[in-house]
Amino acid sequence: MATITSIKHNLLHVRQRIAAAETQYGRKSGSVGLLAVSKTQPVASILAALGQQQYHFGENYLQEALDKIDALQGHPIVWHYIGAIQSNKTRPIAQQFDWVHSVCSLKIAKRLSAQRPASLPDLNICIQFNVSAEESKSGAPLEALPALATEIAALPHIRLRGLMAIPQKAENFDQQRAIFHAVQQAQQRLIDAGHPLDTLSLGMSADLEAAVAEGSTMVRIGTAIFGLRKATPD
Ligand SMILES: *Cc1c(COP(=O)(O)O)cnc(C)c1O
Repeated sequence: MATITSIKHNLLHVRQRIAAAETQYGRKSGSVGLLAVSKTQPVASILAALGQQQYHFGENYLQEALDKIDALQGHPIVWHYIGAIQSNKTRPIAQQFDWVHSVCSLKIAKRLSAQRPASLPDLNICIQFNVSAEESKSGAPLEALPALATEIAALPHIRLRGLMAIPQKAENFDQQRAIFHAVQQAQQRLIDAGHPLDTLSLGMSADLEAAVAEGSTMVRIGTAIFGLRKATPD
């Protein structure tokens, strides 16, 4: 596990990268939020980041996430679910999280809507867009987005905020930008169709600058804050 000192140092460095990219690409200062992706990382690492005023955390694995949410009750954390969603596991997601970035179908959105307690604020939703059109990757295809957005926006207890994408690995910066640009264009078409979207969930440790250049409003950063994960294939 990373030490408290290294997490503090890494967070400062990531914030500097975001601020530098905002300046370089003409983005308003502070317009890109930082989601700390804490999957596979211990509670102690989340506490270390919290100590540096990092309040938004993203998790991929439901049971692990629920254990951490329980252990961190009482801390001012905004929890984001960013992993694959099984339709029989939507209830705890609807009950325990503030955001879900990985909604790929109307079926899942309907379940989250029906299971979101009315006593809580609306659940914030991003539609995951399969921008690289990979058969193996989850996410809605481009042609499905307009109807999906309209149907999701009409559901109670959830609020459609924008798109999320996890692109294929790109060869270089220009290729990263081109893929992110396609996501931004898809988002703009939805905005033009009347959806008041304000969130573009794009960019990870290796490509956050390209994402900021193409309009990301929330970068999802794991490794660059918490160090390497146990179960990372590369
Ligand atoms: C793991 C993960 C991240 C963070 O990736 P890093 O390369 O470690 O920054 C971001 N988004 C999603 C959906 C992830 O699963």
